[in-house]
Amino acid sequence: MSDIIKLLPDNVANQIAAGEVVQRPSSAVKELLENAIDAGGSKIDLIIKDAGKTLIQVVDNGCGMTETDARMCFERHATSKITNSNDLFAIRTKGFRGEALASIAAIAQVEMQSKIEGVDLGTSIIIEGSEVKSQEPIACSVGTNFIIKNLFFNVPARRNFLKSTPVETKHIVDEFERVALTHPNIHFTMHHNGNEVFNLPSTTLRQRIVNVFGKKMNERIVPIEQETTVVNVSGYVIKPEFAKRTRGEQFFFVNDRFIKSSYLNHAIKAAYKNLISNDQFPSYFIYLEVAPDFIDINIHPTKTEIKFEDERTVYAILNSAVKNSLGKYNIAPSLDFEQETSFNVAPLKKGQEIKMPTIRVDTSYNPFDNTPNKSTGGSSSSSFKMPKSSSFEQENIDANLDFLASVKQVSETVQPSEIFAENKGIEENFKEENNVEVKQKFYQLHHKYILTQVRSGLLMIDQQRAHQRILFEQFLSKIEERNIETQKLLFPQQIELTASDFALITEMLEELNNVGFEISVFGQTTIVINGLPVGVSDSEAEKIIERLLEELKHSTNQTTANYQQRMAMIMANSSSINAGRKLEEEEMEHLFNELFACQSPNYSPSGKPVIIKMEEEELDQRFERKK
Ligand code: ADP
Ligand code: MG
Repeated sequence: MSDIIKLLPDNVANQIAAGEVVQRPSSAVKELLENAIDAGGSKIDLIIKDAGKTLIQVVDNGCGMTETDARMCFERHATSKITNSNDLFAIRTKGFRGEALASIAAIAQVEMQSKIEGVDLGTSIIIEGSEVKSQEPIACSVGTNFIIKNLFFNVPARRNFLKSTPVETKHIVDEFERVALTHPNIHFTMHHNGNEVFNLPSTTLRQRIVNVFGKKMNERIVPIEQETTVVNVSGYVIKPEFAKRTRGEQFFFVNDRFIKSSYLNHAIKAAYKNLISNDQFPSYFIYLEVAPDFIDINIHPTKTEIKFEDERTVYAILNSAVKNSLGKYNIAPSLDFEQETSFNVAPLKKGQEIKMPTIRVDTSYNPFDNTPNKSTGGSSSSSFKMPKSSSFEQENIDANLDFLASVKQVSETVQPSEIFAENKGIEENFKEENNVEVKQKFYQLHHKYILTQVRSGLLMIDQQRAHQRILFEQFLSKIEERNIETQKLLFPQQIELTASDFALITEMLEELNNVGFEISVFGQTTIVINGLPVGVSDSEAEKIIERLLEELKHSTNQTTANYQQRMAMIMANSSSINAGRKLEEEEMEHLFNELFACQSPNYSPSGKPVIIKMEEEELDQRFERKK
């Protein structure tokens, strides 16, 4: 047999490497921006078209390249940033692997112009699919101008794999923001399809954060600062009251390199314990500075994951640094001179009176109260009796409730027909036995769950999820039938968005307006909500937009059906009653009836259980009661 192993030609090898380095337009953006920073420029412009699919251009005024370097930079493993393996442990530059340009040139049409200080002419190179098409002298200014056209022109599988324009744009904006947030001293601009998305002049870090995320950010963040022998922590974290229900802005930088770390994210979240609720996310901009040999940034080709030598220590330091700064802020609110209106009280609506806040306590409220309801003939049929309170018994009740919470859904799903059949049964039995009219009783537990009896046992319903399910089905059918009505707002609401969110929303405007929103664009990054779908409360407008954006950023599947479902889900989840809301018995009854009129009452729109049923048999077993 003859030998069959051969070395791959360079262009093939480069194309394979490109698969790792350049997954989508935003990866090319990242590499070019990082090269421009490494080149020491003070101004960097990013220009893209069609989310980078047709054009990505990065212009810098950095050191530029000589004629030889301009040719060399497209070779694989060609770098000016390290020379031997020891350098790997002292990396201060963004790049060092020398494969980005070789990879990009393998899968796109690249034009580059570059000139160094002190020479008359620069060099212009055109290279396509690793093949140099031309190289000639050119008159240009000091620095480098990279133009990447038709990314993946020779890898159709890749090109077809790209997500919708809004999603790819969002990825690019993410990369841009990450770079802009680590170099406030560099002037950055970004243009998309001819529109200016960002113009960020050289400034301080705080002002850079504000310039990227909007003026409101200034009053929302507090500085964090901690110097230790292992790591220096600096940056800003959000005041607890401004935590979002969506992940929002969470940035970790290690030696000015953006990284992802769920472990360190946990350190921060833990510092907010008891200050924000479980479903909220703190925003943060945290900069860790460590000795280069303390970390390994080489474990991931795009370098977004790194390994710390002692991650636990970093966790502890970070956690205490955040706690410290939140604590400090609580005692002495930081004074913000730039922001005069630090008390952001919503303006009074026309004709609205100022009222003293009042507290309503329902002193007679007892969730375990089982005394007969006035309107019913008695409740002797109820097998659900909780002991009257004494501290000992209360403990038992709590234990029992824990147990209830841990009971698995006994019968996987409860059929609506089953419920009504069962209940008819109770009623009829009762009527037969007592010869009276009886009304089904509902109990609310912890202002969160609705308990009621059905013939075969006990039904426990999560009030919030039940309401979400009901609203979801209502919204969805209206959206599908296109008969969702708009309710005009008396006072249109202005929402200022970050530039990236604004770009996403504007792409979506038509679809949003199709499902009952009435949104218009106002200025550079502000939208105005003039109307909302009927059924959505106007206090929820901003929340819905926030959720919608979050959903868009993470959406992978963009079919119409999917989209309509997601819309209905967001609207339902934002408009539903919450856990913690006290419900009157009639309200519970109404909710119960509507829930069982739904097609799928058992699960919330996001797939969580709505109903838990506990069979009488199981109760008997728990009580060790023989049948
Ligand atoms: P790396 O950044 O890992 O060194 P790249 O493939 O990204 O590898 O770039 C190769 C080399 O090209 C760099 O080391 C640098 O010397 C040069 N280079 C790339 N972009 C620029 C630029 N914008 N200005 C000056 N030199 C550049
Ligand atoms: Mg590079």
